[in-house]
Amino acid sequence: MGCADAAGGWAVPQRWQYLSAAPTWFPHWLQNGIYFFIRGFRALRSLAPWRGPAGGPDHANIFAMKLLLPVLLLASAGLLSAAKNLEVYFIDVEGGQATLVVPPGGDSLLIDAGWPGHNHRDAERIAAAAKAAGVKRIDYLVITHFHTDHVGGVPQLAEKLPILNFVDHGTSVETDKDAQILFAEYKARRDKGNHITVKPGDTIPVKNLDVRVVEAAGEPIAAALPGAGQSNPDCATFRKQDADPTENAQSVGLAITFGEFRMVDLGDLTWNKEYALVCPENKIGHADVFVVSHHGMNISNSPQLVHALAPRVAIMDNGARKGGTPQAWQILHQTPGIQDIWQLHYAVAAGKDHNSSDTVIANLDEACQGDWLKLTAERDGSFTVLNSRNKYEKSYKK
Ligand SMILES: [Zn+2]
Repeated sequence: MGCADAAGGWAVPQRWQYLSAAPTWFPHWLQNGIYFFIRGFRALRSLAPWRGPAGGPDHANIFAMKLLLPVLLLASAGLLSAAKNLEVYFIDVEGGQATLVVPPGGDSLLIDAGWPGHNHRDAERIAAAAKAAGVKRIDYLVITHFHTDHVGGVPQLAEKLPILNFVDHGTSVETDKDAQILFAEYKARRDKGNHITVKPGDTIPVKNLDVRVVEAAGEPIAAALPGAGQSNPDCATFRKQDADPTENAQSVGLAITFGEFRMVDLGDLTWNKEYALVCPENKIGHADVFVVSHHGMNISNSPQLVHALAPRVAIMDNGARKGGTPQAWQILHQTPGIQDIWQLHYAVAAGKDHNSSDTVIANLDEACQGDWLKLTAERDGSFTVLNSRNKYEKSYKK
């Protein structure tokens, strides 16, 4: 409370005097609002006939505080409710990946950093999402694999945001010159932070979130996750594709669990590697949200995997002309229980029959603004997805 000045009112020598004890998360817009509210009341009070005598009780100020208290309580409740959910931003990096995961408490996990070049486009889009999420640094950067649409953006991102922990599967398996240069540029940044090489079964220690590595360096978890391990009836009809010697098959795959909510992201893991994760038994179990593998390419996303995960919602980080194949879209579309396939882009080559309705696509035109999809999940397993382009929002019950 402010002290009484000589005229019987409050002394307000410092703008933030009332809020000197406000915690750091208390936002400036709310501080500003309170300040102007009180200042407005002081101005009104100077005109008020019911103003008390000098030195007497200050009824106007007491009245102001009575009005202000519920406003403060409501605002705080709103902030706390925002802070108790998991937020995930699916950032459009036009056919690469950059997914920002922010649990309550503000630790940040970024899965991949998009492309290099493009006049810092991807680093700026990631920084914009981080700002929207109230994130000032990346606590854990998971690089699923060392391909340019995932790791290429790291040097530019590191110029915009501090990155504390670099999490990956170790070293690139690709030995050609371009791959080695790409890896060396990443490693130069990685060497400035803390490096964590993960193995299947490891946990990435993001606060208030269970982040389990289910696949890394071509190997699946040895044992099923708790609650999983069901036999998978689709395994009998699995047809192998050609072996994949690239970094895609080395992808770090994550099962991210927040209370009853689970999201699965396997990076660009390819078809044959999916088999060992879900056959003969499903080691991951059910996912509420499946981040469609490999931007929706058809050398990933086997029916054995997708049907075993049985997601309610799929989110595809495709580009206008990358990923988003009709075959992968159709497998997702035919998954029992699936309600929506959200897409970062309209997939030009797939045509209307193999794209979702415009409402759930973040970017319709090839020359786009880089709109994102934002997921907000609650501990009870319910979640909401928002399209930043048209502000369309849909909730999915637990
Ligand atoms: Zn990719």
